[in-house]
Amino acid sequence: MTDPPLASLPKTFSPSAASTYDKCPRRWRYRYIEKLPDPPGEAALIGTFAHRVLELLCREDPSLRTVEQARDLAREVWSSVSAQKDYRALNLQPKAEHIFRWKSWTAIEGLWDLEDPAEVKVRSTEQHLSAEIAGVPFRGIVDRMDNVDAGLAITDYKSGKPPRPDRRHEALSQVLLYAAAVEADSGERPVQVRLLYLGQEAIEENVTNDNLDEATGGLALSWTNLGKDCSTGQFEVRPGPLCGWCPYVDICEQGGLEVVRRVDAGRMRKDAPAREILGI
Ligand code: SF4
Repeated sequence: MTDPPLASLPKTFSPSAASTYDKCPRRWRYRYIEKLPDPPGEAALIGTFAHRVLELLCREDPSLRTVEQARDLAREVWSSVSAQKDYRALNLQPKAEHIFRWKSWTAIEGLWDLEDPAEVKVRSTEQHLSAEIAGVPFRGIVDRMDNVDAGLAITDYKSGKPPRPDRRHEALSQVLLYAAAVEADSGERPVQVRLLYLGQEAIEENVTNDNLDEATGGLALSWTNLGKDCSTGQFEVRPGPLCGWCPYVDICEQGGLEVVRRVDAGRMRKDAPAREILGI
């Protein structure tokens, strides 16, 4: 008789779970099996704030999608953001709170650097997707689906920095997976995927058989590897620069040592949360 599996595969697999697993399987285990807290940091909360305002803006009639309207919406949304437990946990002092709001507004206003939202034919916002893709029970939420001349476009907002040119392809895999899920669910294949790095640049690609196969193949490979890890209970540790932003650095010996090495070598940003967690 064989031993029972040490962990069960999750019921669904999202792009963020897949990305966490690919970067460090041990971090995935801490978060998704052991369910240790992984509170969003300041950058993630700025992203959530900006996403919510843009979601509400794009639900408005096109003639109302103006900077002034976005400003009014930002004021309304701010009261709920500032009341959230995760935001309060940041314990920002007045000056830091002012910077938080300024960064959020810069991201929101940055949409107009990339497109005029009044001219976008929005089909839906915050669309929940659930579909089997390449044998994987995929789940995700699309920021926006737009009608374009040739059909349907999948659009996702990003408030962080755009990837380096050699990483763009990898970044687009998230929206390509959304495209695959839409096709699997509705039969309609989106024609284009777009990542809008607010205030910076738009990265776009037409959907093809090849890029869809590559994205879904990558997801299936991660799922297969995850299944093996769950059955053996062995989740590889992958120390690297991202340990500086890992909330589990104090319980992960190799990750902690990696952060110490990087701090000693002057290769760790001053604002990396792991420095505070480890007190270095
Ligand atoms: S500290 Fe680094 S190696 Fe350890 S779980 Fe986190 S990301 Fe992985």
